[in-house]
Amino acid sequence: MNQKDVKARLEQAVAALTDEIVKFGRDIVRIETENPPGNNYRACAELVGDKLRAFGYQVEYVAVPPGRLPELAPHGQGLERVSVVGRLPGKEARPVLHFTGHMDVVPAGDGWTVPPYEGIVKDGKLYGRGACDQKSGIVAQVFVAEAIRRAGFRLLGTVESSATPDEETGGYAGVGYLVEKGYIAADKTDYVVITECLDADRVCIGHRGAAWMSIATKGKKSHGSMPDLGINALDKMIKLLHLVNEELKPRLRQRTTDLPVAPAACRKSTLAVTVINAGTKVNTVPDRCTAEIDRRLIPGETVEGAIEEIRELCRRLQAEDPDFQYEINRIMYADPTLVPTDTPLVKAFLASGEAVVGHVPEFVISPGTDDQRFVVQHAGIEQCIVYGPGALNLAHQTDEYVAIADILTAVKVMAHAAMELLGYEDVKRGDA
Ligand SMILES: [Zn+2]
Repeated sequence: MNQKDVKARLEQAVAALTDEIVKFGRDIVRIETENPPGNNYRACAELVGDKLRAFGYQVEYVAVPPGRLPELAPHGQGLERVSVVGRLPGKEARPVLHFTGHMDVVPAGDGWTVPPYEGIVKDGKLYGRGACDQKSGIVAQVFVAEAIRRAGFRLLGTVESSATPDEETGGYAGVGYLVEKGYIAADKTDYVVITECLDADRVCIGHRGAAWMSIATKGKKSHGSMPDLGINALDKMIKLLHLVNEELKPRLRQRTTDLPVAPAACRKSTLAVTVINAGTKVNTVPDRCTAEIDRRLIPGETVEGAIEEIRELCRRLQAEDPDFQYEINRIMYADPTLVPTDTPLVKAFLASGEAVVGHVPEFVISPGTDDQRFVVQHAGIEQCIVYGPGALNLAHQTDEYVAIADILTAVKVMAHAAMELLGYEDVKRGDA
């Protein structure tokens, strides 16, 4: 079977599926799945599940038991956390290629010129919150096997496709839970593709790490007219943040990486103080001040190391000032992830990208974190990449959109790669 023929038949199949792909994209954007708190996950999972079932998949819904919601989704207001997992058995049980994408979106916010949840299509673009990040990725993954089937091929290995909640709040109740429960596991999953929006002509091989911390300084209340009778926790925090700004941040700026983190401005360690809270009343000295820090790590750094750097500043202040009392709490943390590039999975996506787009995809590393870490670090599956439609710089923006051409490109690239990785028969011709 020559490559040109495969390409032409897939092109044709995807062209014939385009209306259905766009309709499914509009339908999924119309389900508002803002997280926090995590709305309408069941409805969204069922939309995906129904489509997968129509395409021949065995479908299962995996809900986090209510008793574990406080631990896995602490800001989820007790709302249900459910994933859908579809399995399309091939002629052979292995290899297994698992696609996964997150259903949740960040809140739409104000300032949109199009309604964020109506699935508006205009000028070849699908608009809406989540259109790019990353419901279009779910759309693409759902249609991969169907495109292959309609092109007249039968996959030998098995395709799985899951849609999960909560990536935007850490992923513990989503991919984290699927990994914990063994739905994605090193002894039964060969390849994993996370369908986040990192541009349809790039292959993402990792992400920076994150250490989100809450730091509290503690003091003693007193009347604002007699401040020396108290210990002002806000003053203590100012001392700490001064050190953070004057010492730590310049040091972090020097810590750069040559790895292809995009945008290039993120090829270094970063730190941002993002929230601060203290005091209740103008005439009361505050006894507690909290500051939240968003620290991002380049490959080679660790969460532990990042926390230790803050702790070291605190210890120094404490040595000078016994009234300096503090505690550090973790909000969310993820070590950086980086996978090898000489694996069959990466090679298949490079070759498929070249066949479809016309040039070899560039490697990219996400500036944020994503569900890849659960698969690589927790499940121990090294062959895990992030590949999906949508421009990274449109994620979380007002008037978010995805180019429909990007979705179609992604379906084709994924389909080529699936055929390469899983093997196939030519059903139309009856040869292998
Ligand atoms: Zn995303």
